[in-house]
Amino acid sequence: MFLKVTKYPDAALRKKGSPVEKLSEDVFKLVDDMIETMIIEEGFALAANQVGSLFRVFVINTTPHEDTPKPAAFINPEILNQEGTVVEEEGCLSFPKLYLRIKRADKIRIRAKNLYNENLIYETNGLLARAIQHETDHLNGILFIDHVDKAEEEKVKKYLDSLNSSGMHE
Ligand SMILES: [Zn+2]
Repeated sequence: MFLKVTKYPDAALRKKGSPVEKLSEDVFKLVDDMIETMIIEEGFALAANQVGSLFRVFVINTTPHEDTPKPAAFINPEILNQEGTVVEEEGCLSFPKLYLRIKRADKIRIRAKNLYNENLIYETNGLLARAIQHETDHLNGILFIDHVDKAEEEKVKKYLDSLNSSGMHE
């Protein structure tokens, strides 16, 4: 089922998610719906609070450079290690048409549960590492606009002003 993606400044985006205690039908359904929504919205990743759930879950397309998406669910993710820094442009489905240059760790180690109730440790870098940091932030109520440097602040301000004046926000 396709879910509506919450747009800033919806209050859900500032809420901290709660850990998934048990992999129930609700969680499986949520993950299914999130993956469907991510693909339809042509997003690269999606966090639960972007679709109105407060579980600590995000989904990500692990093959962004290929034609066939290979989506994976990260449940109760926890970043264990971060190394290096890199600045790249990123976007967010909750901020249509806003792209910001954000400084993130280059390489990360993360622990998360998968849909088979296994706790796995992943090590990754580049685009995937960036997306994982962005999504883990979402689960803590942190948004990419919180990370901008001076040079990008003006862009964010203009964007937020345009939201206020258009009256289109929900
Ligand atoms: Zn986002």
